[in-house]
Amino acid sequence: MSNLFDLHNKVAIVTGANTGIGQGIALALAQAGASIAAVGRSSMHETRQLVEAAGVRFIEIKADLATIKPVGTIIDETLKSLGQLDILVNNAGIIRRNDAVDFTEEDWDAVIDTNLKSAFFLSQAAGRHMISQGHGKIINIASLLSFQGGIRIPSYTASKSGLAGITRLLACEWAAKGINVNAIAPGYFVTNNTTALREDQDRSAQILARIPAARWGEPSDIGGAAVFLASKASDYVHGTVLPVDGGWLAR
Ligand code: NAP
Repeated sequence: MSNLFDLHNKVAIVTGANTGIGQGIALALAQAGASIAAVGRSSMHETRQLVEAAGVRFIEIKADLATIKPVGTIIDETLKSLGQLDILVNNAGIIRRNDAVDFTEEDWDAVIDTNLKSAFFLSQAAGRHMISQGHGKIINIASLLSFQGGIRIPSYTASKSGLAGITRLLACEWAAKGINVNAIAPGYFVTNNTTALREDQDRSAQILARIPAARWGEPSDIGGAAVFLASKASDYVHGTVLPVDGGWLAR
């Protein structure tokens, strides 16, 4: 019987795969059979070890996604080294915290450029290739801030709300061309992104009290949703933003 979730003979690009949610996704895709092109600015040593232990191919592409300069190279390197491109996961992202009244242009531009602009133009470059081959899966890592306002993170909320919009736009343009564009909205996960929140005892306790699952997410909690959206199992799923949030949005 064919396995709807099987990713053998597939190649996935995962941005920001050295740590946290990106590493969790790269590992889950690898365990489902996909070879991985790990893209980022830090060493992928740990991710390489985890992915290669799953028995698939792994390449590392050094790229700083603060600008869109590396976009062409990322696609070219993947095709040259791994021979094909089936899945793109736009995971790399940053957050800057400050009150809206004090928020700087630098903190606005840095977050929008990395989280939204680079994700769009990498999707565009991957999409051109996927359109020409007639299939592909693009997964954007959105956020609860794609649905909610939050506090003290104006550019992050704008970027993640924008990413949800871009997910829907690309799905509308590309669904009939055999490409699935969807997003995952992680809830509160234990990663570098949330260090400041977890160090603030009051905020941390407030957050935990609101999570129906009664715990923060771990990077290993996100892989199942990524495998689903990367696989044949989701062939008729387009433009959705799938929360993986321990029930946060249900409360
Ligand atoms: P993280 O550990 O800080 O990971 C962020 C990743 O993005 C790292 O690999 C980081 O690389 C990479 N990155 C940042 N700026 C980059 C740049 N200019 N060029 C290349 N790579 C860059 O936090 P995370 O929680 O795993 O975040 C992953 C994604 O999940 C982000 O898009 C984040 O917004 C989203 N998210 C996280 C949560 C959460 O609760 N943790 C919730 C919702 C959404 P370096 O290690 O080199 O900085």
